[in-house]
Amino acid sequence: MSSSIPTHMSGVLIEENGGVEVLKWKTDLPVPELKEGEVLVRNEFVGVNYIDTYFRTGLYPAPLPLITGKEAAGTVIAVHPSVTTPSVGTRVVYIADHAYATYTFVPSTKLFPLPAAITTQVAASSLLQGLTALTFVREAAALPRPTDPSHKLGISEGPWALVHAAAGGTGSMLVQMLAAHGARVIGTAGGEGKCKIAKANGAQWVVDNRTEDVVARVREITGGRGVDVIFDGVGKATFDSDLEMVARKGTVAVFGNASGPVPPVDVLRLGAKNVKLMRPVLFGYIATDEERYAYTKELFELIAAGKVNVKVHEVYPLEEVARAHTDLESRKTTGKLLLKV
Ligand code: NDP
Repeated sequence: MSSSIPTHMSGVLIEENGGVEVLKWKTDLPVPELKEGEVLVRNEFVGVNYIDTYFRTGLYPAPLPLITGKEAAGTVIAVHPSVTTPSVGTRVVYIADHAYATYTFVPSTKLFPLPAAITTQVAASSLLQGLTALTFVREAAALPRPTDPSHKLGISEGPWALVHAAAGGTGSMLVQMLAAHGARVIGTAGGEGKCKIAKANGAQWVVDNRTEDVVARVREITGGRGVDVIFDGVGKATFDSDLEMVARKGTVAVFGNASGPVPPVDVLRLGAKNVKLMRPVLFGYIATDEERYAYTKELFELIAAGKVNVKVHEVYPLEEVARAHTDLESRKTTGKLLLKV
């Protein structure tokens, strides 16, 4: 164990749930004690994710006071004697709690040492949203790997997939992954600039949700058939349209609440088209060390090979996290928002 563990640190504390004003910048937070199996990471870049806003507002309850933040990359500065790897000095990335701070204690099993080709900035920009996209495409949509022989069995056209918020952080990753898996991708996005980004991400068709009738356009694009799989992180505002756009025997994967949570659903509504409705969560696909390691390794290989690109909207100083949340929630952003510690 290193003897230089600091006693205090800076970070963002939530003492009550609410708007962005409850994100309080503190410079005198105690550094918690290093427990068995944990290491201390000096965070460099923290990823901002929509889930951070749910913990801020209380949509997802958590004990207060809370240092929120779910992903970061940095360097290991201390390890508990029970930990054999990684060692002090290793560059790492992780998905774990309390990332909005200078230092975070992380179970050693949740750390992924960074390959030389991946910077801490790229790692913090891509881990949570990239893993979400990769696991959802593979497991929720059950699309075979691009290298799987079924791609060469004469299936000339892949399944239809629709991604809402296709220029957003997770949406950008989903579009790229779906396209790489051979799907015919339709992206929705709000405004001309975002539609261009969705197209550049690999969506063959884009629908502007601010100016176009999304359901009618999707019907037109698919020749009336509908789409086989819909990825919806917008939630309340788009769910009803999903049931209109999904094809017979298709899948609707509602995975977020950017416009609010979807109200309880009458399952009888699914019978009209034998729809599979699911609510996938990343954490359920990377619950074991093996799953987490294999998917993370694959994600960074895709990024290092240039097959998946990460676009950063803005790097905000950690002190300005309230501005980052405001921008994210007001639909102003594209790609990933990062905090610099
Ligand atoms: P995004 O970068 O996608 O930002 C949210 C986007 O949602 C906006 O830019 C906007 O795009 C769209 N949107 C539509 N309506 C609204 C609204 N009323 N308020 C705000 N945004 C709206 O954010 P993230 O990539 O961080 O997250 C996207 C979704 O994915 C979230 O719901 C998040 O919770 C979910 N998620 C779920 C995971 C899981 O495991 N289940 C894991 C990771 C993310 P536009 O203007 O183009 O419509």
